[in-house]
Amino acid sequence: MENGKIRTKLLATLGPATSSYEVIRSMIQEGADAFRINFSHGSHEEAGQLIGLTRKAEADTGNSVPIIADLQGPTVRLGEFKQFDVVKGKRYEVSEGGEIPLDSDVFYRLVEVGDTVIIDGGRLWARVEGKSGNTVFISFIVEGELGSKKTVAIQGKEYPLNSPTEKDLDDLKFAAGAGMDGVAMSFVKTSEDIEKLRSVMADLGSGMFIVAKIETISAVNNITGIIGATDYVLVARGDLGSHFPMVKIPELERNIIRQSMNYGKPAIVATQLLDSMINNPIPTRAEITDVFMAVSMGADALMVSGETAVGRYPIEVIKWLRDIAKEGELYSRARPKVEGLDVYDKFAEGVANLGELIGGRLVAMTSTGKTPQRLARFRPKCDIIAVCQDQRIAKKIQLTWGVKPVIIQQEKNEQAIIDKLKSMSLIATGDKIVMTRSLRQGVTDAIRIIEV
Ligand code: PGA
Ligand code: MN
Repeated sequence: MENGKIRTKLLATLGPATSSYEVIRSMIQEGADAFRINFSHGSHEEAGQLIGLTRKAEADTGNSVPIIADLQGPTVRLGEFKQFDVVKGKRYEVSEGGEIPLDSDVFYRLVEVGDTVIIDGGRLWARVEGKSGNTVFISFIVEGELGSKKTVAIQGKEYPLNSPTEKDLDDLKFAAGAGMDGVAMSFVKTSEDIEKLRSVMADLGSGMFIVAKIETISAVNNITGIIGATDYVLVARGDLGSHFPMVKIPELERNIIRQSMNYGKPAIVATQLLDSMINNPIPTRAEITDVFMAVSMGADALMVSGETAVGRYPIEVIKWLRDIAKEGELYSRARPKVEGLDVYDKFAEGVANLGELIGGRLVAMTSTGKTPQRLARFRPKCDIIAVCQDQRIAKKIQLTWGVKPVIIQQEKNEQAIIDKLKSMSLIATGDKIVMTRSLRQGVTDAIRIIEV
């Protein structure tokens, strides 16, 4: 393995706390592999600035850093009002012009007496005590500050709203125009949602990779179809915890990671990984344990949100993630159970085994990125160097566990590729290389062992 490098990929959300060149560059130097810009917050102008700073840091550090546009998706939000502190146990009226203003037909249609309403992404909980048409009475189970435009979810239920929304399409157009590399889709319900997004992108002439955020009941029920359609799966523990009882989150996380691995798509674990670090330079023991567990369960990547977007210690967050992931990798399952292997998956399994047996490095020449991702699925101890022909594919596979993409254009000669990799210090004289390539268009079917 490359010295000191971890195999787990780290994804950090950019925001006001990380809107300077120095912070962005330091995060990259400390091990951030990719950034997310959340279109639920901030303007296109702010996003444009963050993209510009990242591109400069990318060029200066020589590291490739994909940027993901996270589309807000359909949400139900409160109206505008003067913020106030809710009193626990007191009854409040929720209606279009009520003390808590909410203009949403789907909410009033779906909500029933006895439901738990979750406001502001899980910060405030209330019980529904009465309902009469589009007027609902709730009493809060917890106290806290309530403000305008906060999200409103009903636990155990999901709104019949579809992605992508008009705002998502507008953000997508911006992201494509700004040269962002991937797009995360919120509140995905079925594989058709992903297919729809892909066709909209095709119309825009954009080939951004897709991250399906698993956060609705439907998405959990349709997980295999979604895994088939998407490029990455993201365990969105925030909204999962508004749709399911929160105690179900650990098993959902484990199951989504397992299924992703089973069907050969990389999985990202997100939300509240090091939440206390928004205000503290040191995470809690429980957070360290949580991140360790995600890594040892086989997550490809870890994503932080507020910790880097609005937190006080964004660089320390990356360092902690790196240190915990390193430890977790020592204890992750050596050979995960995978199913449904086709002949090319089995080829990859054989290559991964061979690489380990001879203590070598894997070099996969790839035009689509599929072979290195297939290799990663078997979690080999050896490096997986993916020789890509273009930047789009290199960035697309970069968040896959253990995959190190490099771009070597228009070079087919094996010796020339080895020489290039040597000059990049990715391999050295004396190394044993297992190289895979395709002799036939479109499939990886050839293997060579090379002693450098
Ligand atoms: P969000 O998604 O940060 O866009 O809400 C992640 C989650 O719900 O966990
Ligand atoms: Mn979410």
